[in-house]
Amino acid sequence: MTGGRRPLGAGGAGPVSDYCHISRIAGHPANIRDDPGDLSELVASIKAHGILQPLVVRPHPQRHGWLVVLGGHRRLAAARLAGLEEVPVVVREAVGPAKDIEIMLVENCQRRDLGPIEKAEAMGALRDRGYSNLAIAKATGLADATVCTYLALLDLDAASQEKVRNRELAVSVAVEAVRKTRARQRQRAGQKNRSAGMRLSWEPDHFTERHPLARKANELCDAREHNMRRRIGKVACGQCWETVIRADERSAMAALPGANGTPPAPQPVRGRPE
Ligand SMILES: [Zn+2]
Repeated sequence: MTGGRRPLGAGGAGPVSDYCHISRIAGHPANIRDDPGDLSELVASIKAHGILQPLVVRPHPQRHGWLVVLGGHRRLAAARLAGLEEVPVVVREAVGPAKDIEIMLVENCQRRDLGPIEKAEAMGALRDRGYSNLAIAKATGLADATVCTYLALLDLDAASQEKVRNRELAVSVAVEAVRKTRARQRQRAGQKNRSAGMRLSWEPDHFTERHPLARKANELCDAREHNMRRRIGKVACGQCWETVIRADERSAMAALPGANGTPPAPQPVRGRPE
């Protein structure tokens, strides 16, 4: 750690925040996203405003005084290109390789620069590691419903996933398609098992009035007077569903450790007619 103690944000609780010299930060060997992609925008932003969201790091297991990046490989690469000497870091305790990967996946779920499919894949990887939907929601700070929505994207075929990736297909529309497919499957299975009296209830309540974000979406759609639009699950139009899901993400991200002083602040969902 160099440059003395310059705590980021208020309060001493939670992980330690500090600045570290960039030459003493190493990338994680299991970095999930090897290719940082086009960094020019991020480099320009860092040159103008500095790094707004600290890197998540842990002490290097072999080299004393060094840190290993768990979250923020892209920011680190951009900071190097921008010529920064020091970067803000949030230091997590050393916890071992398995836990490292979990922390990296959680970070990916919260990344602003990742698209919905990449976030869904990170949540799917957490699920593969034994996380329940609720555990993912707890770890990421997202609403259970938002996690369910993302995970549903993994049920799409590759072509549809590509459409979501390219923003040709809205998340809400894609998830509704998944919901319908599941409902059909359930119906077929239900008919098959009717004699046994078996009921399948694994389908999450996507886009129904029982969805935890439904009330917000419904109020928003009413306030916007979207009376002519088709309402998914009889609750809200795709756009209003999308708005409340995004707002939930923003409020979850604002609550992250190290998010202090990181604009933008969460925006309340307003009943603003368009
Ligand atoms: Zn609407």
